[in-house]
Amino acid sequence: MLNEVSSFVLPDKPVEECGVFGIYTPGLEVAKVTYYGLYALQHRGQESAGIAVADGRQVQLHKGMGLVPEVFTGNSLDQLTGHAAIGHVRYSTTGSSQPLNAQPLVFRYAKGMMGLAHNGNLTNITELRAQLCATGSVFQSSTDSEVLVNLIARYNANSLEEALMKCMIDVKGAYSLVIISEDCVYAARDPHGFRPLCLGQLGEGYVVASESCALTTVGATFVRDVAPGEILRLDRKGVTSTQGFRAQNPAHCIFEYIYFARPDSTMDSFNVNRVRREMGRQLAREYPVEADIVIPVPDSGTAAARGYAEESGIPFEEGLMKNRYIGRTFIQPTQQLREIAVRLKLNPVREVLEGKRVVMVDDSIVRGTTSQKIVAMLRAAGAKEVHLCVSSPPVMRSCYYGIDTSDEKELIAAKQPLEEICKAINADGLHYLSLEGLLEIFSSKGGHFCTACFDGRYPVEIPKPREAGKFSLE
Ligand code: SF4
Repeated sequence: MLNEVSSFVLPDKPVEECGVFGIYTPGLEVAKVTYYGLYALQHRGQESAGIAVADGRQVQLHKGMGLVPEVFTGNSLDQLTGHAAIGHVRYSTTGSSQPLNAQPLVFRYAKGMMGLAHNGNLTNITELRAQLCATGSVFQSSTDSEVLVNLIARYNANSLEEALMKCMIDVKGAYSLVIISEDCVYAARDPHGFRPLCLGQLGEGYVVASESCALTTVGATFVRDVAPGEILRLDRKGVTSTQGFRAQNPAHCIFEYIYFARPDSTMDSFNVNRVRREMGRQLAREYPVEADIVIPVPDSGTAAARGYAEESGIPFEEGLMKNRYIGRTFIQPTQQLREIAVRLKLNPVREVLEGKRVVMVDDSIVRGTTSQKIVAMLRAAGAKEVHLCVSSPPVMRSCYYGIDTSDEKELIAAKQPLEEICKAINADGLHYLSLEGLLEIFSSKGGHFCTACFDGRYPVEIPKPREAGKFSLE
């Protein structure tokens, strides 16, 4: 069997879900702007990409498997003409990785054409799907997003806003949506605001995106975050806001700040780079170590490592080099080649590490397998001591809101106490940031977060184990 290198080089991380983008701006080449927006969101999903464009009469679609530049050519973008567009990059957290599940999903229904792209996971999908099937709905894909399409089509007697409002009563869980009709774009965020979504202005028009880095990339000015439970309509009159569902206690995903989001993004008032730096500072206060250098596991550990170095006064060094050009290379997963694959992605710098007592800062540990390999690499490159500092609390529970954190049985922190994990990865010391320390960072602006993968306090009821992510078409 052939495996993709990237799927096992760093298997020790949660995996990001999806990114969405939407634009209404007459006079601009909206498909090309969306292409660049998706490029900026590529870190949120690498399995498939798609763009749907509306010109007032119809919705055209181009999507496929692979990275954004693999799916689109100049020619395919030239053919997508119109004044409104939505786009999506996908990693499959529900539904398998196949072309049918790529988004946007575009449908014809009684009111015309509609396209939808979704970030997040619904938690009551099994029952909704069963209800829809019992009343005659048919499904082409195995994604939870198609349930949303069916519900919206069913409820759209008067307006799409009204349909979305009814839909928000039925569906539970996490969703940041962009929807396109023949003449406008809608954006909606679930009542807890699990996944990010923000609004920007571009010329005479407006843009929405999962992260602000996509707004700034396309030259848009950040306006604000979409509020939990809010529905936006982007059309020739500008932006219209409707509170689709009473906002619940906000539960923004705290893992977005720890690992997923790009450091240049600001979400729900917090800049990701600043937050990560502060996590490193807090780590240094909680776990001071006698050491010669602080190094990050690049890239997501870099800002926290800088924070640790600043707070501790220990010099920051780059002891691991990341190969940023690993694409879709396929190799046989033999043990020997797996070792090469790890070094292909991360290579130690002997000149930096030799004879040094090292504090290595990483953002999270899921299964522990990669940490073990990296510690071994540092020792082989001459490091005298390796202390692993993790800028998140131990991941103890699975996520049901759109992040693939692995099965609970595979989470090393759920299976073993700290001392045993430290022994298993062969580190001289191991420290996780405390949950109190993590939340303290956000306390100044009163942020409210989901922390369920650390403390098991799920803000929305989770599916029964046998139901989670299982659909009949799988
Ligand atoms: Fe984010 Fe964890 Fe909550 Fe999932 S369970 S939404 S990964 S904080």
